[in-house]
Amino acid sequence: MKVDPGIPSGPGRLRLLSASEVAALDSYMATVISYRKSGLSLNNIIGCPLDCGYCVRHFWDNYDQKIPQLIVPTVEAITMLLNHPGFEPHVTPIQLYNKATDPFLPGVKPHVFEILHALDRLGHTNHVLIISRFKVTEADMAELETLRHVRVTLLFTYSGITDPRIELVAKSDITVTSIRTAAAHKRRTGVVLYWRPIVPGWNDAENTMAHVLDIGRDVDAIVFTGYYHKQENYEHLTALGVPVPFGPGDFHRRKTMSHELDAQVIAAWRRSGIATPLFRKTSCGVSYAHGAPDYNGHVGIAGICDICPTRQLQRCAAAHTKPTSEAMDAVLNRLDLGAVPYAIEDGHVWVDGLDEMNRYPIQHLLGFQVHNLGSPHYLGAHGRSPHGHMITPEDLDRIAQARATVTAAVRHEED
Ligand code: SF4
Repeated sequence: MKVDPGIPSGPGRLRLLSASEVAALDSYMATVISYRKSGLSLNNIIGCPLDCGYCVRHFWDNYDQKIPQLIVPTVEAITMLLNHPGFEPHVTPIQLYNKATDPFLPGVKPHVFEILHALDRLGHTNHVLIISRFKVTEADMAELETLRHVRVTLLFTYSGITDPRIELVAKSDITVTSIRTAAAHKRRTGVVLYWRPIVPGWNDAENTMAHVLDIGRDVDAIVFTGYYHKQENYEHLTALGVPVPFGPGDFHRRKTMSHELDAQVIAAWRRSGIATPLFRKTSCGVSYAHGAPDYNGHVGIAGICDICPTRQLQRCAAAHTKPTSEAMDAVLNRLDLGAVPYAIEDGHVWVDGLDEMNRYPIQHLLGFQVHNLGSPHYLGAHGRSPHGHMITPEDLDRIAQARATVTAAVRHEED
């Protein structure tokens, strides 16, 4: 790990970036509160020394920032979270430090607990997702277990990759020790093995998969997913000499996980004989860990739930309620989104013209999938609500095509 000399680090001593330093950041990196599929995401600390070769910070020109530093003080970030229009006590899932640092780095951890205790003192029962590959101790687990309201889930990124050019931390047993510690001391804290990224040639060998599954023997759930193949991390990894099984023609905004690889993972899980359930979706594993239905409503989507425990499938099906147009209008009004065209179907709502930041709060407030139809709009409706318009066969055909595309894509979309 690299340490910048002269920059204070350690508990409670993170440096606050100056206004001009914040202004120089990529706007996404500088955004403290953003909305993602797995939840409302709080990131007032950026910088990480763990040097994962595929790190998403490559995408926003922040990879060389190795020391965690504050964009705003944490107390301010908590206020921003609670005042966000998408935040609903007890409902909105929250993610802490999922974008630009590791929450269990020594300098970051006190801020994690500060946020958790603040939410817990308010009596909020929201899910809180914390993704880490670093050191979680027995004392950390004891502190997490003092919480009484927030439903915390630790998601440990562990993939079985052994090449330190791809994952520097893989040289140590830090992550495996943390998983075992968390699994041994959890009572109300959810513990998930986050099996990602799974990449052909890196960690798809039968014995590697068997090893990862064995590490997940005592956790609540295993969630598997693919790899973000984008130009920035491709260039970084190939410059290090790492063989990347995808080329420049394969760059995509969604993670890469072929049907074949999906089937290979499931076959390995079945062979392993472990009792830990396997999930394709982050929210499914997190919800299951707390005995709750999936907060993203994936049960309405084909091809997601075939590996889910029957008890969980029943829980999700019982909670899955097709929203009325009154409920949809109320959510749109609450989020101040105006007259958005939408169509409520079995399993999902189509909307037109809303980006992810605006769709996900609707999805979480309704517990029902919200998909973007995109352009072009319904013929003759010109971007207005489809209610009251004659939908032509051409429209229906186009919607059917969009539905097929979205259904296929949602299997491995960004969490
Ligand atoms: S039933 Fe489907 S939606 Fe619910 S947790 Fe299982 S996989 Fe996810």
